[in-house]
Amino acid sequence: EKFREGLTKTRDSFSGKVNDLVARYRKVDEDFFEELEEILIGADVGVNTVMELIDELRMEVKRRNIQDPREVQSVISEKLVEIYQAGDDVSPTINFQQDGLTVVLVVGVNGVGKTTSIGKIAKKLKQEGKSVLLAAGDTFRAGAIDQLEVWGERVGVDVIKQSEGSDPAAVMYDALQAAKARKVDVLLCDTAGRLQNKVNLMKELEKVKRVIEREVPGAPHEVLLVLDATTGQNALSQAKIFSEATNVTGIVLTKLDGTAKGGIVLAIRNEMKIPVKFVGLGEKAEDLQEFNAEQYVYGLFA
Ligand code: GDP
Repeated sequence: EKFREGLTKTRDSFSGKVNDLVARYRKVDEDFFEELEEILIGADVGVNTVMELIDELRMEVKRRNIQDPREVQSVISEKLVEIYQAGDDVSPTINFQQDGLTVVLVVGVNGVGKTTSIGKIAKKLKQEGKSVLLAAGDTFRAGAIDQLEVWGERVGVDVIKQSEGSDPAAVMYDALQAAKARKVDVLLCDTAGRLQNKVNLMKELEKVKRVIEREVPGAPHEVLLVLDATTGQNALSQAKIFSEATNVTGIVLTKLDGTAKGGIVLAIRNEMKIPVKFVGLGEKAEDLQEFNAEQYVYGLFA
């Protein structure tokens, strides 16, 4: 239900247009495919993914000898799910360690919803019965530490911090020691997100990662990249930059509730080959869902 609600804008726009298209055409011809292509590109599905999808649709329509445009609609949903699920691991869950600490590094540009998402994930994990600790690794942005503490209080988890401007690698070291001493299940690590200075940011990320690797062999077990769905193709270029710098294992796509162009989920998945693990559907602590491609695609048309 929450998922459906969060997708209202995308559903109204994208599905409305598809329904209209299907109602206007009497047979499935080249013009039909061209219009469909435009609708998909307009929904930020991404040019490459759209081309792939249209090719698949053409073949399927031919194979099944579909004449009636209304029958194409269900094939579109099928193909969207197929494209999402193609290829490697699409597991929506965090790679939890069976025994011992799971370290999750959270990266992304300022303003995308990184702090909020960490708070939401912490709440979710706590509800699942896990003990959680937060590391205030964004020592650069004014207010970032306070904001994380507010979330910590709200969801009832401790935050390990130092003062603003301190070395993020030192904060991470403290947090790792605390997590080990307290035997917590999951350590969620915030990081700085100033992209204006790309080289420094990436160097800092590397340094933080090295501390984690040294203190907990095999960690970080997840590197989650937070992307803002309302920034469309910009989110895709951020994904490219971050995955060049570090091994991103999953995406948290925020603000899906705020966009009519939810097709960006498919573009990211298909072009970056990184699974979307969580989606943000609002500002509140409970507005976070594990991503499920079928729920998503069928939710668009339901
Ligand atoms: P950070 O700079 O990346 O840490 O971003 P913040 O966590 O401070 O979030 C920036 C703004 O986006 C805040 O006003 C959040 O309430 C808002 N926000 C974060 N996630 C979502 C979401 O899923 N939906 C909506 N509508 N707003 C969100």
